[in-house]
Amino acid sequence: MSDVYDVIVIGAGPAGYPAAIRAAQNKLKVACVDEWQNTDGTYAFGGTCLNAGCIPSKALLESSELFQRAKDEFAVHGIKVGSLALDLGAMQKRRASVVKTMTNGINTLFKANGVVGIQGHGRLLPGNKVVVKGADGEKTLEAKNVILASGSVPVRLRSVPHDGKYIVDSWNALEFDAVPKRLGVIGAGVIGLELGSVWRRLGSEVVVLEALEQFLPMVDQTIAKEAQRHFKKQGLDIKLGAKVSSAAVSGKAVDVLYTDGQGDHSLQVEKLIVAVGRRPYTQELLAEGTGVELDERGFIKVDEHCKTNAPNVWAVGDVVRGPMLAHKGKEEGVMVADLIAGNYGEVNYKVIPSVIYTAPEIAWVGQTEEQVKASARPYKVGTFPFAASGRARAMEAAAGMAKIVSAKDDDEVLGIHVIGPMAGELISEAVLAMEYSASTEDIQRTIHAHPTLSEAIHEAALNVDKKAIDGLNR
Ligand code: FAD
Ligand code: NAD
Repeated sequence: MSDVYDVIVIGAGPAGYPAAIRAAQNKLKVACVDEWQNTDGTYAFGGTCLNAGCIPSKALLESSELFQRAKDEFAVHGIKVGSLALDLGAMQKRRASVVKTMTNGINTLFKANGVVGIQGHGRLLPGNKVVVKGADGEKTLEAKNVILASGSVPVRLRSVPHDGKYIVDSWNALEFDAVPKRLGVIGAGVIGLELGSVWRRLGSEVVVLEALEQFLPMVDQTIAKEAQRHFKKQGLDIKLGAKVSSAAVSGKAVDVLYTDGQGDHSLQVEKLIVAVGRRPYTQELLAEGTGVELDERGFIKVDEHCKTNAPNVWAVGDVVRGPMLAHKGKEEGVMVADLIAGNYGEVNYKVIPSVIYTAPEIAWVGQTEEQVKASARPYKVGTFPFAASGRARAMEAAAGMAKIVSAKDDDEVLGIHVIGPMAGELISEAVLAMEYSASTEDIQRTIHAHPTLSEAIHEAALNVDKKAIDGLNR
C-alpha cells in the first residue's frame, strides 16, 4: 500500500479514532497514528479515555459502588450477604479487562472500516507530510489532510513532585494495588471527586484539598450545594480554600503542607493524587514551518470548524479550546471528517452535556441559574426532588433533584441540571430538548413513562409554571 493518504489522523483517542472511522466511511483513504503505550509497554488505541480515563474510572466507580451498596444498603432491601470482603485484585483485573475489550474493539473497527492503524509517534512536517517513528523505525507518510488529535496530559505542580508511586496522577490512581489507608487528593474537580469516591467507598480516609473557596463553580450552585452535602455525609473531607505549598515523600508516606483561612496545616497521607486539571499535549508534534499556531495556553488555534492556521490541517479534542470531554472531541472529529469529504458538519458548542459520575451523579447541559442571572435575561425555575419519585424510592436512591431554568419571555429551555440516580443517562433527554430548541411547554407535553426516573425532568418542567402534579409547587 502506498504511503499517500487522503487523511492522516495523529492520535487515536475519542477525538481521533472517530474522525478516522468517519473519514473512511466517507470513502477516503485514511491512516491513524497513535503512540499510546500501557505500563507493560504494549501499544493500544483509544487514548486517555479508553486506557486511563473515562472507561477504567467508570469500571472502578461501578465496582466500588456495588461494594459500598452491598455493605450499607443491601440490608435495607432485606438481602443478607454474610460477611463482605473486598478482593481488590479481582476488581482491578475486571477494570483491565473492560479496558482491553474496548481498546481491542478499536482495532476491529479500524479493520472493518478500512482505516490503516499505525502505532508510533507522529510529527507533522511542512507540506502535510507526517513522519512516524515506531518500533520498526521511521517512515514518512503524506496526506491531503491531517487531523491533529494529540489530546492532553495531567498538569503537574512544581511544589508537589510526581514520583508515580506516592505522589501520583489519575492514571496511577486507577491502578493502585492496595487501598490506601489515608488518601490525599489535590483538586476537588471532576477527577478528584470521582477517584476520591472510588477509594473512599473501598475504605480510604479521603482528604480533598481545593484551592478555590467555592465548590464546583462550573455547576449550578443549587446542585453543587446539594452535592457537597452528600459528599460530606459519605465521608469525603473536602477542604475549600486550601492552598498546598509543598508535598514530599517521607518513608512510605507523603507529608503535605497547606494553608487555608485558619492558617498553616500539615497532613500525612499514604498516597497523594494530584488532580488539578489537564493541559494540551503537543510535544514533538509540530516540526518547524508547519504554520500551525498555538495559543498562549498551548492549545492548537482553530476556528469553529476546527481548521488550524495551516491549509488542510485540522485539530480536534482536548488539544483545542472547549471542555476536555470525550464526547466533545468525538463530535469535532466527525464534523471534520465530514467537512473534508465535502459534506455538512457542525458542532453545537452550546449544548454539550457534562457528567460527574459520583453517587449521586451530577449532570447538566446549558446555562446555570447563576449564568442566566448574570445575563440579565428574565428567567423562571422549576425543580423536582427525587424524594417524590416513586421509581427513585423503589431504588432506594431518593437523593437529589432535577432543575430547569427557562426564559420568561419565550419559554425557551436555557439549562437543565440533575443530581441524582442515573443523572448521566437522564441528561440525554435534556440535551435532545435543547438541541431542538425546546420550550418548557414542549417537555411538559411530552409523555414520560411511569414509574421512571425521567419523570423528574417532566415534573421539573411542570414546576417551572407551577403545574407540578407529583411535586410541590413553590
Ligand atoms: P486523548 O484521549 O488524550 O488521546 C490522544 C491520543 O493521541 C493518545 O493516545 C496519545 O498517546 C496520542 N498522541 C499524542 N501525541 C501523539 C503523537 N505525536 N503521535 C502519535 N500519537 C500521539 N471525559 C468524558 O467525557 N467522560 C468521562 O467520564 C471522562 N473521564 C475521565 C477520567 C479520567 C481519569 C481522565 C484523566 C479523563 C477523563 N475524561 C472524561 C476526559 C477524556 O479522557 C478526554 O476528554 C478525552 O480522552 C480527550 O480525547 P482526545 O482524543 O482529544 O485525547
Ligand atoms: P478540573 O479542572 O475538573 O478540576 C481541577 C480542580 O483543581 C479545580 O477545582 C481547581 O480549582 C483545583 N486546583 C487547581 N490548582 C490547584 C492547586 N494548586 N491546589 C488545589 N486545587 C487546585 O480538572 P481534573 O479534575 O484534573 O480533570 C481534568 C479534565 O478531565 C477536566 O477538564 C474534565 O473535564 C476531564 N474529566 C472529565 C470527567 C467526566 O466527564 N466525568 C472525568 C474526569 C476528567
